[in-house]
Amino acid sequence: MGSDVISEEKIVIRINPSWCKGCAICVEFCPQDVLVMESGIAKVANLAACTACGLCELRCPDFAITVEKR
Ligand code: SF4
Ligand code: SF4
Repeated sequence: MGSDVISEEKIVIRINPSWCKGCAICVEFCPQDVLVMESGIAKVANLAACTACGLCELRCPDFAITVEKR
């Protein structure tokens, strides 16, 4: 007799503020509106909506944002 054990999705978004030039490309490409701009730097505003699609990481010209699914 067993039971299913289902883990919660664990997504980690990292933004390197010294590499982010504030172009807002990640904000524009995120289909889930997870990211916002704050004081010229990208910021995670709604992590719960993130699907880990990786578009922000792919589109950032400065490798300033990474998405990891644990
Ligand atoms: S795309 Fe990259 S450099 Fe541009 S705002 Fe987003 S994290 Fe910053
Ligand atoms: S991984 Fe996808 S859903 Fe998550 S913040 Fe980046 S673009 Fe948005």
